[in-house]
Amino acid sequence: MMYKQYKLPLIVFIMTFILLAFVQIKVERPMILAERFLKGSGWVEIFLISCYGAFVVNKMKDPMNVPKWRKICWTTFSLVFFTQLIIGLSGFDKFLMTGKLHLPIPMMILAGPIYRGQLSVMTILFLSTVILTGPAWCSQLCYFGAFDNLSSGGKSSKEILKYKGAIKSTVLIFVIAMAIILKWMHAGMLVSTLIAIAFGVGGILIMILYSLKRKKMVHCVMYCPIGTIVNVFKHINPFRMHIDQSCTLCMNCTKFCKYDALNPLDIKNAKPAITCTLCGDCLAGCHHNSIKYKFLKMSPEQARNLYLILTISLHASCLALARI
Ligand code: SF4
Ligand code: SF4
Repeated sequence: MMYKQYKLPLIVFIMTFILLAFVQIKVERPMILAERFLKGSGWVEIFLISCYGAFVVNKMKDPMNVPKWRKICWTTFSLVFFTQLIIGLSGFDKFLMTGKLHLPIPMMILAGPIYRGQLSVMTILFLSTVILTGPAWCSQLCYFGAFDNLSSGGKSSKEILKYKGAIKSTVLIFVIAMAIILKWMHAGMLVSTLIAIAFGVGGILIMILYSLKRKKMVHCVMYCPIGTIVNVFKHINPFRMHIDQSCTLCMNCTKFCKYDALNPLDIKNAKPAITCTLCGDCLAGCHHNSIKYKFLKMSPEQARNLYLILTISLHASCLALARI
């Protein structure tokens, strides 16, 4: 009985510990922050971060707690990321990954490699998370999306975000075309950086002007090209969300989805829209337990547990490793 209660935290603790221990042993330059200050102390940090992962999964194993704890841990992740960046930029370069700075805007994950003609560490990290967990990048791993999640706080409005498919495809094509043109024109770093900053500021304005008002993550759903890539490429991973026949069409779950994926038509079709990130918030809004995780032949409970184990172990590991 006792073992069953602590099974998920124990698995997340072990998985996070193994993942970070591998990095600690195999990578030559210390990647765990504490190790950069005192030899051997990286192991203490790995232990504490693994405890953090166990704590988070223990809170989130109850679906009713997911909206609150996902917000807390995603915000924490982003604050740790940006605090390290600010300290690093103030001259303490131990807080930076390699010292080769790039703008902390998700769009750079796509535009950067096109412009430079080579993959970056962040792009490889991003692709690995999509392969392992499908869309979890956009529900608890992205340093930028956490702010859109905060801006859209409270119960979502029932207003549908119209033309989202057309708008997000246009932005994606625009970003790719712009990166190709800048490369082709041999545009200097200054011009490219200014364009990227303008794009980032545009994103922040969308959060302030639209996400805040609509109580939906308008920036992530309609503007961010990485979100669009996640929406498409998440399908290489077998995790899915579906609505079973016990659904009474009460539409209560709509208020819990910040990704505009549970509109009346989606609920009638028994499947969240393409913008679903498998965040799990809607499970707390369904009084009939009709919304379920799916993974191959697993039961919904097993599928959800596996999803929590993978995403939270990855979230905790990235908390220790993600910096620029
Ligand atoms: S849509 Fe963009 S900003 Fe939002 S979580 Fe995904 S990558 Fe981050
Ligand atoms: S449908 Fe549910 S799991 Fe998917 S994004 Fe919306 S709230 Fe999250």
